[in-house]
Amino acid sequence: MQRFVLWDLDNTLVDRHGTLPDWAGDFVARHRLGDDARQELLDLLGERAYPPSFEEIRTRYRLASTADDLWRSYCADIAAMVSCPADVLTGLDELRRHGWRIGIATNGATDIQTAKLRAIGIHSRVEGICISEEVAARKPEREHFAQAAARCGTTLSAGGWMIGDNPVNDIGGGRAAGLSTIWIANGSPWPTDLPEPDHRVQHARAAIELLLSDSVTRSTT
Ligand SMILES: [Mg+2]
Repeated sequence: MQRFVLWDLDNTLVDRHGTLPDWAGDFVARHRLGDDARQELLDLLGERAYPPSFEEIRTRYRLASTADDLWRSYCADIAAMVSCPADVLTGLDELRRHGWRIGIATNGATDIQTAKLRAIGIHSRVEGICISEEVAARKPEREHFAQAAARCGTTLSAGGWMIGDNPVNDIGGGRAAGLSTIWIANGSPWPTDLPEPDHRVQHARAAIELLLSDSVTRSTT
């Protein structure tokens, strides 16, 4: 199996769950919204944010800004707030030095995912970036993983790894696409009704250690 690894972005390389509540609090204060607005925004944007979400927000709170302005502010705000642990960024560099080809496979809107990848400095550390809106294929669809591999100059048939926090989209999808899998648990238990990942770790740095370790290296050469 080739040394090729695809990474999910949100809650795998960056902490989206930790960033959104801070953004929602700032948004409520900036627009002087009511007590319930913060939770309503989290409910609306918790899973995924797209431009139409901000048309709904503009209407619900009778905001003067256009939905497009709200969306662009959201992208800039989140990109400025989101972070990736330093030892994960250096870990991606270590993987490349050890001959690993690295890609990003993420569901979401192109604007916001690209803004985050650039702000954090991940875009310059990977061979290819695959965003579902851009390629019109979402994880767990095989097509998404195939496009991600192509953007890294390789194919799924040569094998590789998928690393992510979502049991269905990342692990189930990666496995169905023929990839070995590492699940980022973030403290959650594995859902017992789904086939197990090849490995479970708590955070991204541990997954990097695993890829750099002798046992995985032997199995991928
Ligand atoms: Mg994720």
